[in-house]
Amino acid sequence: MSTIGIIGAGTMGNGIAYVAASHGHDVVMYDVQLALAQRGFDAIHAILQRHVEKKRIDETELQTTLDRVQLTADLADMAHTGLVIEAVPEDLALKRDIFHSLDHICDPAALLCSNTSSLSITALAGVTQRPEQVAGLHFFNPAPMMALVEVVQGDRTSPATIGYLVDLARRWGKTPIVTRDTPGFIVNRIARPFYGEALRLLDQHVAAAETIDRVVRAAGFKLGPFELLDLIGLDVNLAVTKSIYEAYFQEPRFRPHSLQQRMAAAGLLGRKSGRGFYEYPTENQP
Ligand code: NAD
Repeated sequence: MSTIGIIGAGTMGNGIAYVAASHGHDVVMYDVQLALAQRGFDAIHAILQRHVEKKRIDETELQTTLDRVQLTADLADMAHTGLVIEAVPEDLALKRDIFHSLDHICDPAALLCSNTSSLSITALAGVTQRPEQVAGLHFFNPAPMMALVEVVQGDRTSPATIGYLVDLARRWGKTPIVTRDTPGFIVNRIARPFYGEALRLLDQHVAAAETIDRVVRAAGFKLGPFELLDLIGLDVNLAVTKSIYEAYFQEPRFRPHSLQQRMAAAGLLGRKSGRGFYEYPTENQP
């Protein structure tokens, strides 16, 4: 079973690392500082601890899973991985830099994947000498719980790469769907009006955030738009909206909302900062 490399130990990176380690893979998790990688490791520990408390696993399994996760702040440690999943902030220049470096560091047979929500896989593949082995592997938040994974086929991604990733996602208990490389792929493109219209309703004082969320939940959704924005992080979600808006040449229906921009600038990021559209007591923060 191949060793999985994870780049970025934040919300998504540590969630994906948990999924891989709990399915028997050795994992090398990288972040820019060891302390940040350690924070991701602590999050994995906390997930496993909850499983122990609910008697889904025992202490031995907790320890075995944790022992599979190695932390690093040195990208060169990706040399012995067979598949790398990048989950750094939604910034094309940053991701391209990382893919360029990984292409030099990793085994020529290794697959390089991005968990990007919206950016072009073809543009990431373009800075490597292995565009056939570059794909999107887009997990949803929280990665340990959400079944859906978009497997994104860049213009030069080979069918063999896609086939391998679809099989892998199934082995990890996920439901993969293959999508072509377009801004926002399927889910994040459909989701833009979901957030955008809710923000307009709130900004025009049509109804309170609680009311809008309640209505949407009553219609069968697990979370309302504001609860979901708080879970994702207003900054992370804004970066995705901006990226899709720009990628569609400023198509008005994808335009970001200034209310979200203001809140993100004010540090009202949602659960992770303790306050977004709702307030979160410290013990509920990830
Ligand atoms: P996050 O801010 O929680 O984590 C990002 C991590 O990357 C941080 O630990 C940060 O220290 C690290 N990082 C920053 N620069 C780095 C670098 N140069 N090298 C290595 N690590 C670096 O963000 P997130 O929510 O985990 O999002 C990561 C990616 O996943 C983004 O592309 C985002 O669009 C995508 N995504 C997010 C969600 C979500 O709901 N949050 C869902 C699906 C996909």
